[in-house]
Amino acid sequence: MAAQGSLSRSRAVALDAGDPLAWTRDRFAWDAGEVVYLDGNSLGRPPRAALEAVAAAGLQWQERLVRGWDDWIERPRGVGDLLAETVLGAGEGQVLVCDSVTVNLFKLAAAAIHGRPGAIVCSADEFPTDRYVLAGLGRELRELRAASSETPTADEVARACAGGDVAVVCLSHVAYRSGGRADAPAITAAARAAGAIVLWDLSHSAGSVPVSLDAWGAELAVGCTYKYLCGGPGAPAFLYVRRDLQDRLRSPIQGWFGQRDQFAMGPAYEPAAGIERFAAGTPPILALAAIEPAIRLIAEAGMDAIAARRARLTDYAIELFDGWLEPIGMELATPRAADRRGAHVALRHPEAWRLCRALIERSRVVPDFRTPDIVRVGLAPLTTRFSDVWDGLAALRELLATGAYREVDAAPRRVT
Ligand SMILES: *Cc1c(COP(=O)(O)O)cnc(C)c1O
Repeated sequence: MAAQGSLSRSRAVALDAGDPLAWTRDRFAWDAGEVVYLDGNSLGRPPRAALEAVAAAGLQWQERLVRGWDDWIERPRGVGDLLAETVLGAGEGQVLVCDSVTVNLFKLAAAAIHGRPGAIVCSADEFPTDRYVLAGLGRELRELRAASSETPTADEVARACAGGDVAVVCLSHVAYRSGGRADAPAITAAARAAGAIVLWDLSHSAGSVPVSLDAWGAELAVGCTYKYLCGGPGAPAFLYVRRDLQDRLRSPIQGWFGQRDQFAMGPAYEPAAGIERFAAGTPPILALAAIEPAIRLIAEAGMDAIAARRARLTDYAIELFDGWLEPIGMELATPRAADRRGAHVALRHPEAWRLCRALIERSRVVPDFRTPDIVRVGLAPLTTRFSDVWDGLAALRELLATGAYREVDAAPRRVT
């Protein structure tokens, strides 16, 4: 498939020059002497408008003090509706931006199993916080070991639910380690046919691949806003509850922001009507201000165009992998079909940890490491250039081919 000279840097530069979404990069804040950043799947870069919005929110705090709550109280729902329309393929009144993914997953999983006997099914390779939260709910937790890629298929989910004794299936749409993408509508239908509810984790999907919660027939979902949605470190997460389920489910956290008539300060908890019943406590207004500009940028660029750019970038990374890295001992852990993966590419090598440290310390390239043997290369479609992919993978090839990575300190660190 690759034409002569197709692995040259000049081709990467030409791809950048011809890309219809090359302009989005200028909307972000950059430093002089910038690193090659291939970790936007862990923490997205700051949009310049987000930094301005945080400053403006600070000024509002200064000027309005407690009176600011007249507007602020609507923000979790307002940003949720914007996100629903722009990124999640969901109608209004079904998405709330609040709490962390961990807390939202707990709230929705606990609400879904309440009054519904049966086990919980998740992937054996599910993100740790998801597995930990599910394991803490006091139900049998069945971990699916997918046969092919690291995302379970609809058939595998159907088999896991075949006994009719499963209450909830909780899966990542895009797997955090392999980058494999699950067939969400087929899995949702397979679980429903067996009487189970599916809770989707969209942390690695939102802002990277097409998501159509309403069209999928999805019931529940959660996801992260500091990865491809560029909301900033610790930005609040989102939750989705399909409209017709909202009044049948109750949050296990009976917080006053989910109370029907909050400022009546009544004696007993009574859940609000609609999506707001899944709120818990006071929303983080400064952090919410940082999320909105990126969603507006996504609306301007178009989610389909962004997802298409993601496919071009990951295709290109795999092309370089085939030409450079596979011959010297790396393995591709990500599915090859563009519609079966997200926006990161996972490269397997027994020395992955030292390769990552060497990339950061010696090559000014920032990927991340995922235990035990994955170099994860994130190609955030709003900010990554083809020339960044080239620079990052060329540095990896160099470290591997020369063995220079062996010279870095292999001591473990708290954050990988
Ligand atoms: C990033 C991520 C999380 C993060 O959870 P927090 O509560 O925000 O720390 C959870 N699940 C998945 C699948 C993720 O990728």
